[in-house]
Amino acid sequence: MAGEGEEMVKNKQVIFRDYVTGFPSESDMYISSSSLSLKVPEGSKSVLVKNLYLSCDPYMRILMEKVEANRDFASLTPGSPVTGLGVAKVVVSDHPEFKKGDLVWGPTGWEEYSLIKKPEAFFKIHHTDVPLSYYTGILGMPGTTAWAGFSEVCSPKKGESVYISAASGAVGQLVGQFAKLMGCYVVGSAGSKEKVKLLKNKFGFDEAFNYKEEHDLDAALKRYFPEGIDIYFENVGGKMLDAVLINMRVNGRIAVCGMISQYNLKQPEGVHNLMHIIPNRIRIKGFAAFDYYGQYSQFLDQVLPMIREGKIVYVEDIVEGLENAPGALIGLFTGRNFGKQVVLVAKE
Ligand code: NAP
Repeated sequence: MAGEGEEMVKNKQVIFRDYVTGFPSESDMYISSSSLSLKVPEGSKSVLVKNLYLSCDPYMRILMEKVEANRDFASLTPGSPVTGLGVAKVVVSDHPEFKKGDLVWGPTGWEEYSLIKKPEAFFKIHHTDVPLSYYTGILGMPGTTAWAGFSEVCSPKKGESVYISAASGAVGQLVGQFAKLMGCYVVGSAGSKEKVKLLKNKFGFDEAFNYKEEHDLDAALKRYFPEGIDIYFENVGGKMLDAVLINMRVNGRIAVCGMISQYNLKQPEGVHNLMHIIPNRIRIKGFAAFDYYGQYSQFLDQVLPMIREGKIVYVEDIVEGLENAPGALIGLFTGRNFGKQVVLVAKE
């Protein structure tokens, strides 16, 4: 029962059913609805937000398993809403740094309204001349990943040869464009003809290929990199990494951003060509986006003008409604998404 003067709203949620092994499916999540009072506990320093856009990200699959407590993120909780990153508007605040109406991006729930106990993890959104959904992608975690992963982890130089796997996705499309702006030769791979066209025609990659049509990945890489690869931006792992290792140039760098081909396997695939690291002096480095969140304002200073001046473009795949969120998330693992996968929950 609501107290006097208390506003009640309906709160639709996407609930995580239970831990997953192997490929996830839509039925690992279900839609539920309850009502919620628009208030926060007094003195709690929490905020209540209305979720506007939710981000579908591959790492969420890893959290569908029961993972060890010492990992960077906690597993999803069976019977509770899916958690992830999103763009939201503050509706009620008991925190001195947030007020009603503030737009924010950061960790939230897959539901219409979320009570956020630690709003300090949010970034406030000050620039709204660009689409708000961009704060799930180019101006959010994937953008920071692409920017820091390329400029800091890859140590790129003008004229170098860059290869990007899962290149049409949230991160890859940006890495390719950053590399082109730096004057690199850029090749990307993706899983369909339409995505290959997108890489070449929209993002300006020098070359692109459909890895699903290549029986011999080594031969494909030799075709596009006859003199070898200086930088590999790793998004998929497995057989692709193996083929890349034998095509790296001396002093090549591999930035290990993700290995999506391995996330649904009960037993990860082995990598056989690691010996090539030695004679070719290859540097392989893993990294995490949030290691670079301290540089977020510097990132915005660089990337916002690029967007405004049309030097960089961003392709999003936006589905409408929480009902369609489970399918959108699962679609990342079959390549159904065409660009950054976003769920529109509510207009501002
Ligand atoms: P995304 O590209 O928007 O979506 C995933 C894409 O991966 C799919 O569209 C699909 O495209 C491809 N894919 C799915 N299964 C595959 C498989 N078995 N083999 C090859 N490709 C497959 O995802 P994203 O957000 O840009 O993320 C890309 C990678 O970066 C992921 O590995 C992710 O975990 C990682 N990541 C890491 C960080 C970090 O902090 N280190 C941050 C963000 C993302 P195709 O149609 O081309 O197959």
